[in-house]
Amino acid sequence: RFISIEGGEGAGKSTQIALLAERLKTLGLDVDLTREPGGTEGAEAIRNLLLGGGDDRWGPAAEALLFAAARSDHVEKRIKPACAKGVWVISDRFLDSSRAYQGASLGVSDETILALHQIGSAGYLPDRTIILDLPLEASRQRTRARDGENSDRIGGRNDDFHQRVRDAFHQIAKAEPQRVRLVDASGTPEEVAALIFEKIADLLP
Ligand code: C5P
Repeated sequence: RFISIEGGEGAGKSTQIALLAERLKTLGLDVDLTREPGGTEGAEAIRNLLLGGGDDRWGPAAEALLFAAARSDHVEKRIKPACAKGVWVISDRFLDSSRAYQGASLGVSDETILALHQIGSAGYLPDRTIILDLPLEASRQRTRARDGENSDRIGGRNDDFHQRVRDAFHQIAKAEPQRVRLVDASGTPEEVAALIFEKIADLLP
């Protein structure tokens, strides 16, 4: 099985991925934790190109192409082979982050993002995508607590940016209810973990 975990800043992806992996392992399942962009040597090299420079290093189209190229390598060399062996792969971000970040925020159309994904990865999709959803105010409080930021900006970007990302995630969840489930990420780690587990339980053997 292949599960992707999505969400904005401070939504608790890392914590929840660790908790989910632990729970799946106690059920006797093999788990492979990975991330996008990254997950393979080539894709990690692209990650450094993407996240190493400033926000304006790449134009929107170039950025979308690099994400699609990194994902292509990740899908072919790591995700598909692991799934074929019966391993449960959990990826910290996948296609829907591209749709939300490169799409909603940089203005690349959803059609273009999906077309690039079609070219790069034959449209390969997770069995389930969990979107950790958090209101902007909660996101601000959490990222401040984590990063010790004095600024009102979340992760150095303005509220408008984060609202567009959140709206895009909502839209994706609404359009693809079978694959994508929105989870309220405002509870305690244990509460959120329980909500996530409910939403993947039908995939268990
Ligand atoms: O997963 P994490 O929150 O560490 O992501 C790091 C950054 O990468 C995010 O702040 C996000 O802005 C960016 N990103 C992106 N487009 C993606 C995936 C991540 O802009 N497709």
